[in-house]
Parts: sequence; structure tokens; C-alpha cells
Amino acid sequence: MPSMTSRKVEQSRRLQQRAESMIPGGVNSPVRAFRSVGGDPPFIVRGKGSHIWDADENEFIDYIGSWGPLILGHADPGVLDAILGAACNGTSFGASTPSEADLAELVLSAFPHMQKVRFVSSGTEATMSAIRLARAYTKRKYIMKFEGCYHGHADALLVKAGSGVATLGIPGSAGVPEEFIQFTVALPFNDVQAVEHAFHKFKHQIACVIVEPVVGNMGCVPAADDYLVALRLITERERSVLIFDEVMTGFRLAFGGAQELYNIRPDLTTMGKIIGGGLPVGAYGGPSEIMNLVAPLGPMYQAGTLSGNPLAMAAGIATLKHLQDHKQEIYPRLETLSGKLVEGVAAAAKEAGVALCHNRVGSMFTWFFTQGPVTDWDSASKSNTEAFGKFFRAMLDSGIYLPPSQYEAAFLGAAHTEQDVEQTIAVAKQAFAAVRG
Ligand SMILES: *Cc1c(COP(=O)(O)O)cnc(C)c1O
Repeated sequence: MPSMTSRKVEQSRRLQQRAESMIPGGVNSPVRAFRSVGGDPPFIVRGKGSHIWDADENEFIDYIGSWGPLILGHADPGVLDAILGAACNGTSFGASTPSEADLAELVLSAFPHMQKVRFVSSGTEATMSAIRLARAYTKRKYIMKFEGCYHGHADALLVKAGSGVATLGIPGSAGVPEEFIQFTVALPFNDVQAVEHAFHKFKHQIACVIVEPVVGNMGCVPAADDYLVALRLITERERSVLIFDEVMTGFRLAFGGAQELYNIRPDLTTMGKIIGGGLPVGAYGGPSEIMNLVAPLGPMYQAGTLSGNPLAMAAGIATLKHLQDHKQEIYPRLETLSGKLVEGVAAAAKEAGVALCHNRVGSMFTWFFTQGPVTDWDSASKSNTEAFGKFFRAMLDSGIYLPPSQYEAAFLGAAHTEQDVEQTIAVAKQAFAAVRG
């Protein structure tokens, strides 16, 4: 049981100062700097299963899991074996290796609507490439996205892009010329009328609609009943490409992602995170008719020096194989344990008289510090981020590592135990007292 005494921060603070002198904000991805919650970001030196340790030897129960990829937990023996085995034979060739088709086979078996897949090295690359492909296929210019959805940091997609951007209070991003986003239509999430209206306004000009089928990047916000069905029907009618960005939801909500869970067939799917098992992998795929436009078969250019890297493929294969072999146990268990955790913490908030609502789909969830319900960016942004910050810091000081932003989803993985969950609920009870006090 972690004690309520404040964690030690000397080493992490020293490492942060050192990093800050060389790296912007000391971090290589902004949310890690803890700017919206305050306090000292722990420097992590080790992870095992559901737990991580920092440079001051504090131990934490981890609900970030590297922002989603580590559904099997840290340092999973099977994944480590696969990486070590691959590394012994060389780390990169810039030529084809057998493992690329092995991972492709696993991905296509999980996503039956997909006939071909191309591997890249991040989610950003996956969505950026899928958008280019949708434009190549339809020969149209406009793209449609939704407020609060994040699809990586490509110029045209950095419009009302949720968490990272929202956490910093930056509207879009500096350095993106207006001309680069003039073909991006950003609409409120869960609003079918807005979609109909935009398709009417930009008749025959919208190449694609890209959506997180369950949003994770404004905190967890599920699609309303029939919203995804409506997007499918409208895009079909308008001959526009429907892209499910399953970078977060793929292999997490079900082995076959949100499209399996909700039984909807998008045209293109983008993936990342779990598909690389903790190493850098992204992917985009769809029917051959569209994918055959990708170079060298077709005129849509996209390439990558380290794409299909053998270490990354090995980690992905080991992770997906394990999920495939154990999906009957893993996904139901994630559902039950996540439910227990999320409802247990929500009950503790209610008992303490803290206004809180929760959204959860499977092992993806957020406790919003607002009465709710949270259904889109406007309702999410009513959250009391100051109260969230207090809660976050109290949890962290007692050994619970949550996403350092109100607008990021938390994750539970196969390595979490009943004891982890009970401990987290117990700590939350005390943390809510700190929020009120
Ligand atoms: C994380 C994420 C991305 C970006 O992936 P990176 O690997 O960070 O570039 C894109 N889309 C969604 C839905 C994500 O959650």
C-alpha cells in the first residue's frame, strides 16, 4: 500500500532541469511536462507489469501504459523475447524482412474489412497518409474532422485537435499557414446535423471524414447511439471515404477495434499504439481498390526509412499474437476490472461530494470533474481542471500514475490486478478529500 506521504522528487527534479537545458520543456512530447497539472514529472527508470518506478525509487500503479500501447503491461516476457531475438539478427535493413507479412497477416485477420495494410512508424504518419490516400482516391480536396479528436500533428489535422493542444490552451498551432487548413472542416462531435449541413455546403468536395470512433483525446467520449452508423450512411451516399482512426481503439476495445465492437465497416482504418507493442509502429489499410493507389502500385507517394523495422514488427507480432490467443479471457476481464475501477472511484467522489462524471468504453476511461454528461468538446471543457489537478497530484503522491491532463483517456491493461484496483479506489477516497479540503 503506498503511503500518503509525499513522494520523493529530488532525482526527477534534477533530471528535469538537466533535460530542460537541452530539450524544449525537457520533453519530447508536450503533455509529459505536466504543465496543466503542475508538480514534478517523475522520470521513469523501470516498469514491470502494471507498475513503474521513478528515479527517486517511488513506485506507481500505471494507468497510462505509454498512452495505450502497453495493453500487456511493462516488460512483458513474450514481447521482450521477441524484441531481443530480432535484435540479435540486426536492427534494420531498409529491405523487406519476413516479419512484415507476419504482422500484416495478424492485422488483416483482426480487421476483416481490410484487404491491404501499409506499415509506418507512428500514428501521425498513419493518419496523414490515409488522408492523402483518400484525396488521391476521390480526387477531392476537403477533409472533415471533429472537435476534440486528435489525429496526430500533421498540419491539416491540427484544427480543434483535443488534448495536447487544449491542455496548452493553444488554438490549433503556430506555424500552420491558414492556406494549409483551408480545406479542413472541423465540426462538433456527435452532431449528425452538422455533418449533413457541411456535405450540403461542400457538395462533391469532401474527400473523407476522419473520426476517432471512441474519442480518447478529449478524455474518453463515446459516440452517441447511431452516430457512427449515420457517418457511414452519409459518407456512402456522398461517395466520401470514411476513415476510422483506431490508433487508440484498435486491439483495445476488442481485438478488431471499435469497428468490431460496433459492427461498422469504415473505408480506411488507421492504427498505431498497441500494434507496435511499445515500439514505434503505425499502419493504414483498407480495401485493395483504394490501397492499390499507394506507391509503388499507384500514384500516391508514401515511404519510410525505418517503416516495417524488424524490432518493431517483432514487438507488434508478439503483442497481437498474445491478444489473439487469449482474447476470450483478456477482453472480458478488462471490461470487468475497468468497470470496477471506474465505478469505484466515481462512488468515492459522490461520497465526498465532488462533482464528477465518468465515461468508459472497455478499458478506456476518464473521470471528468463536471456534473456532465460529457458528449463532445463543449461539455468536456466545462470540467473543473483545477480540481482535476488537485486530484491528480494527490493520486500521484500516493503512487497512482494517471494521465496528467483532464483531457486524456486513462487505460487499464491485462497486467492490472484486483489489488491494483482496490488500492487505487482506496487512494482516490483520500484524494477526493484533498480536492474538497
Ligand atoms: C496517439 C494518437 C495519434 C497519434 O499517434 P502518434 O504515434 O503519437 O503519432 C493519432 N490518432 C489517435 C486517435 C491517437 O490516439
